Amino acid sequence: MELKNMFSNLNGNWVRWSDYRISDNHSVKYIMPSETATALPYSCTSAPEQMVVDALNLGKLVFEQKEDKDEVCLSFARKYGPLGVTSPVKSFLLRDGRDADNSAGGAAPVYSGIFAKAYGEPLERYQDTLSILYMHFLMVKGQTDKLSQKEQEQLRRQELTPEACGMNYRLTFGSPSQLVWEPENLLAVLKLSYALLITDPASPLKICKSCGQAYYNPNSRSEFCSVKCRNYYNIQVFRGRQREQK
Ligand SMILES: [Zn+2]
Repeated sequence: MELKNMFSNLNGNWVRWSDYRISDNHSVKYIMPSETATALPYSCTSAPEQMVVDALNLGKLVFEQKEDKDEVCLSFARKYGPLGVTSPVKSFLLRDGRDADNSAGGAAPVYSGIFAKAYGEPLERYQDTLSILYMHFLMVKGQTDKLSQKEQEQLRRQELTPEACGMNYRLTFGSPSQLVWEPENLLAVLKLSYALLITDPASPLKICKSCGQAYYNPNSRSEFCSVKCRNYYNIQVFRGRQREQK
């Protein structure tokens, strides 16, 4: 099941900024629009499959603690805007137990409106959210050997927590009428899209046999994310056979 099959004429109103930076506020790192950035409204439901794949592959970088994970977070934000990891705003603790809103009077960037230039999302929370999404994907794909016992228990506990989907919507009077989704956060759109794709019996979300990246392909026989990966894999198999024969 895909969003476009579930809803015809669906538009998801969201805003991304043309550029993002990582800024430090009371020693907490935030992903924020750059000072010269311009707001770019777009429909976040027009290519949900690509958004899910990008989120999973970013989650993979975070999970594997790759050096370029912060830079890729900025690229993701430039493409899709804020995730809304703290929306609706509530006080929360960082991994080391500090309160993220340690500036007096609620002046931290999470307290600005989500589409404001002054709005920022804590980088740590942003990355943890995508890493957990990727860990769920590994679990479903049977790659549990990559997860520690503790991580698997953490995921099982989360399974029991109901997810709010934030489906605030309105219908237009046009012909045909359009369903306009006004999500509180992008995470609601991302998670619902992921949920629909990962539970699809055709299993269109796959892990490339060659490079290990997540990719989307509704063809049940697809095993590689690209022709390049398929060719590379076949050459490796061929060379392996040659070595065995020698
Ligand atoms: Zn690949």
